Amino acid sequence: MKSRKLMSTVLAVVLVTALAVAAIASPAAFDQKIVSQISVPRMMEDVRYLSEDIGVRIASSPEEEMASDYIADVFQKYGYDVEIQEFPYANRIAYVTMLEPEMKKIDVRIGGSRTNAPLTGPEGITGKVVDCGFGGPEEFPAEVEGNIALIRRGQQTFVNMYNNARAAGAVAVLIQNYSWTAFSANVGTATIPYATLNDEAGELLRGGNVVINYKSIQADTSRNVIATRKPDNKNKDTGYVVVLSAHYDSVPTAPGANDNGSGTAALLELARILKSQPIDMEIRFLACGAEEVGLVGSRYYVSQLSAQERERIIANYNMDMVATAGEAQSLLYVNTLDGDNLVARTARAAAERLGYSDYLLAPYHRGSSDHQAFYEGGIEGGNFIWREPGTAALEPWYHQPHDTMEHISQERFKIAADIVGAACYSVIRPDTPSLIHSRTGYGETIELIEFVPEGVEEVPEI
Ligand SMILES: [Zn+2]
Repeated sequence: MKSRKLMSTVLAVVLVTALAVAAIASPAAFDQKIVSQISVPRMMEDVRYLSEDIGVRIASSPEEEMASDYIADVFQKYGYDVEIQEFPYANRIAYVTMLEPEMKKIDVRIGGSRTNAPLTGPEGITGKVVDCGFGGPEEFPAEVEGNIALIRRGQQTFVNMYNNARAAGAVAVLIQNYSWTAFSANVGTATIPYATLNDEAGELLRGGNVVINYKSIQADTSRNVIATRKPDNKNKDTGYVVVLSAHYDSVPTAPGANDNGSGTAALLELARILKSQPIDMEIRFLACGAEEVGLVGSRYYVSQLSAQERERIIANYNMDMVATAGEAQSLLYVNTLDGDNLVARTARAAAERLGYSDYLLAPYHRGSSDHQAFYEGGIEGGNFIWREPGTAALEPWYHQPHDTMEHISQERFKIAADIVGAACYSVIRPDTPSLIHSRTGYGETIELIEFVPEGVEEVPEI
């Protein structure tokens, strides 16, 4: 009797232990530690702040710097070691502010190159906007002299309309597109400043009673924001590093909600969650500046790493345009330049565990985002981005003024953040003592074999 009772007690303890081990052992349970905490409203609020409160964030601009300060503040609040890494990038940026009939910021694209576009000085040029039709020689009213010419694109060459405006005495020129898209114009050697804008922005300035300030500035410095966390227990530190990244700059006239407020917001959200999870390697969150102008920030970051540092970094998970609402952009691509690397494999495994396999294509051969800088530095990287199945086409609002909050999909936002979070955590989380790990790569702990305590087999199924 006594021994039977003891036996059943032992069995009960073993059963509870087995259940507990089973609960811990499942890789899906580790995923849930991450994905259950991902808050879409929090990410949406960050996208809103970046794309609406700050708005367009051109490389080296004051707006890009505002975004970097915000990102650094959030990382700091979460307890990370934060570094703002400045690097030189010369750029010229144009601003149009409507003063009358109401105060309003009008997004424009500067005319001329980043090194020779005409500058206005810090006060800018204030004047009336004068409708000059299509910019033909006869279309300039006398009042354009000393004021700002607004010209429609479509009949004259850019050089002709610009020269005609200058001859008529305009002090600045705005060239309006015939559609909602942004465009660039180059008139060669320019003496008065000029800029382009889409038809919607142009129409806001038409009507004869509009006064604006036109300002073009020289900017020189962009920045990366780097947040770092090392394992709490030094003895458990494998010495490896995983870098999560996203660029936070945008192109002129694009508020950059999806490109790349979305990736930035997901980066901040994963930083919030991973600040307190056990890890056995260093994790870094890298918010890159000046991506849109040629991966300048990420290349600078990689260039500053020692050879030893590059060895330690085993993966870069990069997020760029992770929340589009584009109807056709239904597949999350993991772009890599070195085939089926650690990022692609862990993403695929995570998607499978989370039931997202139908949404994921990994790997796909492509560079053109910050993961390319890591690849060039000999580090395995992958970029997560929603594209059209088959064609790999991006959303219609890509690099356009309509890259705004209304074209963000909360559902796709969550799927992308879940996959990146779970994949990344599968690499950085510590070895669990009750598990036997089968490691095929550095941190690649995909296959887990449950440790089965002796006697558990005898427990009847319930
Ligand atoms: Zn981008």
